[in-house]
Amino acid sequence: MKALVLEKAHELRLRDIPLPTELGPDDVKIAIRTVGICGSDVHYYQHGSIGSFVVREPMVLGHEAAGVVTAVGRNVTSLKPGDRVCMEPGIPDWTSRASRSGLYNLDPSVRFWATPPYHGCLVPEVIHPANLTFKLPDNVSMAEGAMVEPLAVGMQAVTKARITPGAIGVVIGCGTIGIVTALAALAGGCAEVVITDMQQEKLDIAARYPGLHSVNISKQDPLAKVRAMTDNWGADVVFECSGAQKAYENLFDFAAPGGTVVLVGMPQGKVAYDVVAAAAKELRVEHVFRYANVYDRAISLLSSGKIDVKPLISRTFPFEQSVEAFEFAAKGQPNVVKTQIVLE
Ligand SMILES: [Zn+2]
Repeated sequence: MKALVLEKAHELRLRDIPLPTELGPDDVKIAIRTVGICGSDVHYYQHGSIGSFVVREPMVLGHEAAGVVTAVGRNVTSLKPGDRVCMEPGIPDWTSRASRSGLYNLDPSVRFWATPPYHGCLVPEVIHPANLTFKLPDNVSMAEGAMVEPLAVGMQAVTKARITPGAIGVVIGCGTIGIVTALAALAGGCAEVVITDMQQEKLDIAARYPGLHSVNISKQDPLAKVRAMTDNWGADVVFECSGAQKAYENLFDFAAPGGTVVLVGMPQGKVAYDVVAAAAKELRVEHVFRYANVYDRAISLLSSGKIDVKPLISRTFPFEQSVEAFEFAAKGQPNVVKTQIVLE
């Protein structure tokens, strides 16, 4: 089967590669239609590793996918051939202690698409557990379905934040994850959300959403903006989505006393954490790692129209041009949020 294979850093090829084809009793077979390119895919392409995850063998990329069910295993009753679906890319061991504790995203033995040594989904057909395959309503497109994976990260962050109605939010970083976190925060009850970045083009995309206020930190002081909006009290919830070390220098200044800070972005190295600043406000600090039990909710928000991810899909490439698509995404152009690949 022809797949987009990362041979090693900087070397991508569309080529045949042997992949599992056996349909287990609890699996479904899915014809892949749309795959989003994630920052992690681009990082593996450019560096061949993320932290301790090193690409040692050729690996199929991609983990943000939607498609159509073509066959179902004999135990599967929830899905049938022809169903349009999107897939949760991490397959845990359901008998593990983490899974039994309701923390299946933290199962150390999770097999996550396109995280070495596991292959991803930039391939015409995949076998996947039915219980990690979610039906898309008719009014949710394949392109939107492939956006459920990044949206799920925002959903997890907002779930951790425990937002109350009318809260004021701040999101640091206006990449895909920053914007979907801001949209999930609005859908989760925030009255207003301030989103900050240095790239004006991305901020302009975010500012088109009602309730989202963009601040270009190279031109305007985001702290002054938040203080002005909150009578100097600070934001109820702060989401760090940039992964920039510098963002940590004054991160806690954005939060109101008793507020919550959710760390979503992954910094390259260790960061300094101002314990006294956080303590003086009794801030609650939360971390997220991927997501658990949010896919169905994310799909509901897309279907109900409470979240619209369509403006975030910047460019679409055919599967045959997957290598070009990666080169395009790797340029990191300021007006590009999400690049997707479409299979016929
Ligand atoms: Zn992703």
